[in-house]
Amino acid sequence: MDRLTATRRTENMRRIKSKGMKPEMMVRSIVHGMGYRYRLHRPDLPGKPDIVFGPRWKIVFVHGCFWHSHRNPDCVDGRRKPKSNLDYWLPKLTRNSVRDAENEADLGRLGWTVMTVWECETRDRQRLIEKLRLFLQ
Ligand SMILES: [Zn+2]
Repeated sequence: MDRLTATRRTENMRRIKSKGMKPEMMVRSIVHGMGYRYRLHRPDLPGKPDIVFGPRWKIVFVHGCFWHSHRNPDCVDGRRKPKSNLDYWLPKLTRNSVRDAENEADLGRLGWTVMTVWECETRDRQRLIEKLRLFLQ
């Protein structure tokens, strides 16, 4: 196997891997790479926030666009509505959004600054890195 082929193969593997990476894992790997320490899913805080930067009083939620109804005209998943069982799904999605807003308000009252990373934002890794850098610095 020559060197170029090996390099290319590694590159391909990386691409496939990052494509399948869960949004939360991607955010974690980015902030970890920036050298930040954090705790995950702290049960003592409202909404068990995904990523908690204790000393900085900052919190990152990573939300799926469909489940948390991402309200952005460019987000297809956020506008997507369930095709069947609407009586069940629509109230459930609404409850998710209401709970998200309540959690964020509660965390704010406790002194936390909260940022949400939407699943669709993890498709542009460079932009996501910038967003996280600005939030955490
Ligand atoms: Zn979205």
